[in-house]
Amino acid sequence: MNRTKSNELHHEALSHLVGGVNSPVRAFKSVHGNPIYFEKASGAHVTDVDGNLLVDFVQSWGPLIHGHSHPEIIAAVHEKMLNGTSFGAPHLGEIELAKRVKNRFAHMDKVRFVSSGTEAVMSAVRLARGYTGRDILVKFEGCYHGHVDALMVSSGSGLATFGIASSPGIPQDTVATTLICPLDDLEAVEYAFNEHGDNIAAVVIEPLPANNGLLIQRPEFLKGLRALCDQHGALLIFDEVISGFRFQEGSFGDMCGVTPDLTALGKVIGGGLPVGAYGARSEIMEQLSPLGPVYQAGTLSGNPLAMAAGAKTLDLLDDEAYEYMERLGALLEERLGAVLEKHGNPMRLVRRESLFWLSPGDGDPAIRADQIPSDAAGLYADVHRALLERGYMLAPSAYEIGFISTSHDESHILGMVEAMDDALSTMEW
Ligand SMILES: *Cc1c(COP(=O)(O)O)cnc(C)c1O
Repeated sequence: MNRTKSNELHHEALSHLVGGVNSPVRAFKSVHGNPIYFEKASGAHVTDVDGNLLVDFVQSWGPLIHGHSHPEIIAAVHEKMLNGTSFGAPHLGEIELAKRVKNRFAHMDKVRFVSSGTEAVMSAVRLARGYTGRDILVKFEGCYHGHVDALMVSSGSGLATFGIASSPGIPQDTVATTLICPLDDLEAVEYAFNEHGDNIAAVVIEPLPANNGLLIQRPEFLKGLRALCDQHGALLIFDEVISGFRFQEGSFGDMCGVTPDLTALGKVIGGGLPVGAYGARSEIMEQLSPLGPVYQAGTLSGNPLAMAAGAKTLDLLDDEAYEYMERLGALLEERLGAVLEKHGNPMRLVRRESLFWLSPGDGDPAIRADQIPSDAAGLYADVHRALLERGYMLAPSAYEIGFISTSHDESHILGMVEAMDDALSTMEW
């Protein structure tokens, strides 16, 4: 596969953009190569600037649940665009999307739209702190909540410790109010509450952690968090930016029988345009400005094009769509599982409906960050490159998940499995 033009553009971009990219995961740093420059994309396929056609399992990192440039979504955006690109004033599209969001997230009486997942979580955290009048947050090792200062934290040593900023530029004082616990460890959270209960504003978690592998939590763990929050008057915030709208049954919280106080959303909710949202019961949401004292605003919040893309995306997510993606997921699980086994299980497939992850090693898939083998990246880099050569694009990192969309079909799944079989035959590990 020739990538001359991609490489040229990357070298030019290096003079203008930091590392040539506007989001670090797009750099091929961990898979040792240069990023691929896209020219256009349609359905399951991306065409790069050198004219190569790739089957895409990244799908813009989650938003494109109906694939690239879905004709109905494009038409909805186009129609709205003719009436103006941004109003900075209320319009019908905001009500339309809010109704659809509340349909899926029944605990929300009110919704606030923002423009990214980061903004949604950041704002939900501020609201939780404002509502409770408390400062401390509990977060979990291996969960990503966007680049929110207070949540960019690595764990210190020991049980439920205050964290250490995981990036320069974040004041130690900012993370000094964030406690880190391991996933799947209710005792650690209990300990945190025993020590700091009166001061904990919220427990923040991805109920289906999907940014550091796919670490499927036990419903009992999430129920335990709910009980601890209730006992101590803290709020439970579910970050469903990646898992939201991915499941036929509803939110991931619903599937586990746990209702959070606040939910943050992003990705699928905007269907490929920049949308984030957060919502809760009225009593909490009414603390927000203009009704309450907690301030949060956005020039482009509720943008008419983004609202239209989101509403159309959610309308297309009917039972048939979910059942279709589940069938493709099941096919991937069965066929890829067999191929991996044939090669001695260098990795295992972890899947929940349309989300999948190649969990490194032949052991039981991890459910805590510290159970992921630390040498995961080496083999993955080879697999990633070998699949690209064969026309299949997975995320350029061993810790990122893959996405099935309604635009994929059996041939894309079977083709990827065959490419994997072929690739693994040529490798050693
Ligand atoms: C992607 C993601 C975010 C951040 O969303 P952005 O739109 O990239 O700011 C936050 N939380 C989770 C769980 C995510 O997957």
